[in-house]
Amino acid sequence: LPLGEWEFALQELNGKLMFENATTQRTNSTLLTLARNADLNEMIETVWNYESRFNKRYHYPWVFLNDEPFNEEFKSIIGRLVSGDVTFGTVPKHHWQLPDWIDRQVASARWMQLGADNVLYGAMESYHHMCRYFSGFFYKHSLLEPYRYYWRIEPGTRLLNGVPYDPFRILIQENKTYGFNIAIHEIEETVPSLWNTTLEFLGQHPSALAPNNLWNWISSLNGTEYSMCHFWSNFEIADLEFFKSDIYNAYFDFLDKKGGFFYERWGDAPVHSIALALFLDRSKIKFFDEIGYSHAPLTHCPHGKSNMACDGRDSVDFTSGSCLPSFLNLTEGFHYNLTAHS
Ligand code: GDP
Ligand code: MN
Repeated sequence: LPLGEWEFALQELNGKLMFENATTQRTNSTLLTLARNADLNEMIETVWNYESRFNKRYHYPWVFLNDEPFNEEFKSIIGRLVSGDVTFGTVPKHHWQLPDWIDRQVASARWMQLGADNVLYGAMESYHHMCRYFSGFFYKHSLLEPYRYYWRIEPGTRLLNGVPYDPFRILIQENKTYGFNIAIHEIEETVPSLWNTTLEFLGQHPSALAPNNLWNWISSLNGTEYSMCHFWSNFEIADLEFFKSDIYNAYFDFLDKKGGFFYERWGDAPVHSIALALFLDRSKIKFFDEIGYSHAPLTHCPHGKSNMACDGRDSVDFTSGSCLPSFLNLTEGFHYNLTAHS
């Protein structure tokens, strides 16, 4: 075990960790992972980690999705590691293929160009499908139908401390829609036309803009440009109703028809974030500071609570790539002088 894991295990043995009463009833929620069979090894570590630091106290169900069927090895090993009900599903083919209004030759040429320009994953067709899937389809999967909330978990990610509460219950108690852990800047080359497309959509749906939204976080230069800020979507704890809403789906369909998931490399994180920032009151978005989390190469450590696995100095939160300070400024009137700390 890595050092931080031992420290956690010992603290827990010695009764030094304070957790919410584990007998509290579960909420109507599920853990959710999209993975490939080839992700099995990373998945084992991640499931073990989330179970020991969170789910063994709650036994939430866990839904695994894949664009291909999971093999028996994956299902058998993962099935035995999860302490709640596990289901394995396949993504419907029509949610993971080029739509008929996309020209494959044009798209392939763009992917080659993105590759030549060293845009991360730009040349990988499967990555484009994955981003589009998380933008407009995951919440339509039949295995998610029974649930109101999901926690997105990726193979290879880790919790860096025991989660001191049920984050689903926190969302409900605080009347929030979406919880994030890390907020950073997007790679500009992946989204050249996303903001103008969004402005065009808003022109057709002016009432979509919520009062008290996060316009000043998501845009720059008087709203003429995207700020590149986004909630890092490999960690999301959120209300599926938001994604099922008419306005979100109108927005996704509008984006999808413009082709940017294939002709550019629009990520699901900027798409989710722009929609959240524009269509919701800013008070609906929750920063889960208490959950130490890592997805290579970035880490979030809870404020002022370092342990051996999570040193505040490793945290991305107040570095120049982070969009957390501007989020906190707008939501909590929290004024943080970035330059003094980076
Ligand atoms: P990154 O976080 O942007 O570096 O991208 P990842 O490679 O981690 O992919 C994001 C998520 O989608 C992870 O949960 C992956 O396991 C999953 N994923 C990415 N590509 C595919 C794919 O082609 N098939 C399946 N089934 N899952 C994928
Ligand atoms: Mn990832």
